[in-house]
Amino acid sequence: MRHDECWVALRYASLGPAYEIEAMNPSKTVLISGGGPVGLLCALLLGRAGIPVRVFDANPCLQNDPRAATTHPATLDVLDQVPGLVDDMARLGLVTPIFQFWDRPSNTKIAEFDHVVLKNDTRHPFVIQCEQFKTAGLLLARVEKLPNVDVLFNHTVTDVSQDANSVTVTVKSPAGEQTHSGAYLIGADGGRSTVRKQSGIAFEGFTYEERFLVLTTPFDFAANRGYCERTYIADPEEWCNCFKVAADGPPGLWRTVFPADATENEAKTLSDTDVHARMQKFFPLPHAHDIVHRNLYSIHQRVAATFAKGRVLLAGDSAHVNNSIGGMGLNGGLQDAANACEKLVELILNRNPHDLLALYDKQRRIVTTEFVQAQTIANKKRLEARDAETRKHNFEELSASASDPVKAREFLLKTAMISMQQRAASIKLETV
Ligand SMILES: Cc1cc2nc3c(=O)[nH]c(=O)nc-3n(C[C@H](O)[C@H](O)[C@H](O)COP(=O)(O)OP(=O)(O)OC[C@H]3O[C@@H](n4cnc5c(N)ncnc54)[C@H](O)[C@@H]3O)c2cc1C
Repeated sequence: MRHDECWVALRYASLGPAYEIEAMNPSKTVLISGGGPVGLLCALLLGRAGIPVRVFDANPCLQNDPRAATTHPATLDVLDQVPGLVDDMARLGLVTPIFQFWDRPSNTKIAEFDHVVLKNDTRHPFVIQCEQFKTAGLLLARVEKLPNVDVLFNHTVTDVSQDANSVTVTVKSPAGEQTHSGAYLIGADGGRSTVRKQSGIAFEGFTYEERFLVLTTPFDFAANRGYCERTYIADPEEWCNCFKVAADGPPGLWRTVFPADATENEAKTLSDTDVHARMQKFFPLPHAHDIVHRNLYSIHQRVAATFAKGRVLLAGDSAHVNNSIGGMGLNGGLQDAANACEKLVELILNRNPHDLLALYDKQRRIVTTEFVQAQTIANKKRLEARDAETRKHNFEELSASASDPVKAREFLLKTAMISMQQRAASIKLETV
């Protein structure tokens, strides 16, 4: 945790129990549980529209969260409504137009896709590899400039209730237990969302038998093996994702993602012996790899039964979780945030009488299931396929798509999440 990341927490801690909350008009205020990237984007979009917002986050300050990095073209198209944000992400991250598929047993490149074929479909024909804590930091820096938005770290939402006119949260804070009321509540409090649980919304789906192990190293896989900054490696024994992040600046770091047995003791999976053996098997060196981070994640495919219940909305991981192959979880969450805030602005400021939250639920839940869930499940199956015929078929299909610009565009419209956004926009209120 960097020292400067805690200043916001200190700022609010210093206000103490007498902190004045009346400045917020509860009939217009939007409460947000969770100050991760999704909650902060909601705060920024609503705050910029002039809506009073209060964000609660359980952590003492922003965390150096190493999870998401890949931000897809469709999401960049959404984020560029915030002046300078995409440029800042590009400055702190890596602009990456290309991704590749490799076969690990034969060490051969199967296919390479270039986002340039999407130049007429998006303002951003590339992904930006920007670590999620950097994106969150860029959002927080903008949020802090808005006088109508409070971000309260060290504030944990523990209970939610609502009636016809308002929603109320109970919050555990350094000053003791508090209640806060507002017009709407966004649950952006991650996969274990208290808001979702307190609202009695089911989280349907399944949990994989493997965990994902992420080992981060400065070893240069581009120079030494020819991988590009986003490389997906198929292997019936042990698939891998290998992608580069800017970290603190050139030369950057490489994150390797492997499946790990979920029944194995966590400490063993993360032990020096096992981690170094795994890396040596992946890329043998005469000395041990320099592993600067090691993280182990449980992996789920789950979607909330509804994304809107009365005055409560869910966005981001609180609404859906998926495996990280293809980098779609946070992207979907940021797209939820933009969609939800558009609806809330209409409801609060323009008093639009339509049931826009039902539309939010339908648009985002349908595309989450049809696209993100389906694609991430398929992505994993493609990398781990064991059967020789299936592997051959997969490789031929990928290679044929990559070598034909029409097919490549079709493929990339899905991976870049553009067709998903188009599908969401096509779902109209009349169909709710
Ligand atoms: C290895 C890995 C790689 C990934 N790579 C990608 C990628 O490349 N691209 C991509 O799109 N996605 C990726 N993801 C998914 C991505 O990390 C998540 O989708 C993303 O973090 C969701 O953001 P969020 O803001 O919804 O939730 P979170 O980032 O989990 O934030 C939730 C916030 O809520 C707070 N909170 C929790 N409970 C409470 C409470 N009761 N009260 C108040 N605050 C609370 C937490 O402190 C936290 O700050 C990856 C995930 C993993 C595991």
